[in-house]
Amino acid sequence: MNRLGRRIAALIAANGPMTVADYMATCLFDPEDGYYTTREPFGAAGDFTTAPEISQMFGELVAIWLLEAWRAAGAPSAPVLAEIGPGRGTLMKDMARTLRRLSPDFAESARFVLVEASPRLRAVQERTLAAAGPAFEWHEDVEKLPRGPLHIVGNELFDAVPVRQYVKLGQAWRERAVGLDDAGRLVFVAGAGSLDAALLPPGANLAPQGSVVEIAPARSAIMARIAERIAGEGGAGLFLDYGYEGPAIGDTLQAVSRHRFADPLNDPGAADLTAHVDFSALAGAARAEGLEAALMTQGDFLIEMGLLERAGRLGANAGETEREAIREAVERLAGPGQMGRLFRVLGVFSRGKGAYPLLKS
Ligand code: SAH
Repeated sequence: MNRLGRRIAALIAANGPMTVADYMATCLFDPEDGYYTTREPFGAAGDFTTAPEISQMFGELVAIWLLEAWRAAGAPSAPVLAEIGPGRGTLMKDMARTLRRLSPDFAESARFVLVEASPRLRAVQERTLAAAGPAFEWHEDVEKLPRGPLHIVGNELFDAVPVRQYVKLGQAWRERAVGLDDAGRLVFVAGAGSLDAALLPPGANLAPQGSVVEIAPARSAIMARIAERIAGEGGAGLFLDYGYEGPAIGDTLQAVSRHRFADPLNDPGAADLTAHVDFSALAGAARAEGLEAALMTQGDFLIEMGLLERAGRLGANAGETEREAIREAVERLAGPGQMGRLFRVLGVFSRGKGAYPLLKS
């Protein structure tokens, strides 16, 4: 077992099983050995590749949606352009360039803000953005965002925010936790807490023994805080991730290392640990703050935003190798067998202030 694994095992030996949510938070954000605090996750040489790392077209189209939402609200003064969970900073770099080119009005009056929980990734983002024009500012959480109409994007943020899991045992749903087996290895166990029946998906009482349901209060809390700001001060939010429309039954906790699935209990902190996003729950959290929420697949969103036209334009000035790379990027971002269908896009905004193609609940 690695160093973080030994520390987790010692904690469990002393205090009893650790909930899946606490285990996930520890693996991802432990200050000394956490995945996002110590590793370089992104790109071909890392563990996984995200949409902004595939092509600049992704950030360009996201920026245009946020700009259109700003215009739909009457182009309010002093907007905030924010990204939460910016990874390497590539999406922000592409958005800033696009906004400066398409709307000097917006770019000159906006504050550009990054919300990042990992100090190490913040340093990576500072390097990426060093030569990228406007002054950028960083905050650790959404609570500290500056005032003003908030235009915020989060790509593959929510899948990295911990979920709670509950496992069916008899007629009860007990909170799933990580404990130790006789040999001192980490194993899943049924913990002490149980889930309120009102939170169970339909059909849960017929589900087989050992079935798992996931709920993510930490994700809803982040969404609620963002939505509250947008409801009070204007703006819009766009969140892209892989997920489903819940509530549903199923264990989606997964570890990915070097572009392959790994065992989530093996080598804690060495692999990315995520769980699929329940978009209905996030939309519900935004609606509870009075916003509208519109959902579609990433493929439909990017195509409607003009991905093919943009690819054609970029390809027109490119050589054959580069044209092939652009075609491949389009397929990866929007193809139904790739990110096009599994990934969804959730837009949240005040009534009537969305932008095409995310306009209505
Ligand atoms: N958006 C990037 C990176 C996705 S990885 C991309 O598409 O390439 C997830 C990112 O979210 C990392 O930067 C991680 O440190 C950050 N993160 C996770 N939880 C967070 C939280 N609660 N607040 C802010 N950032 C968070």
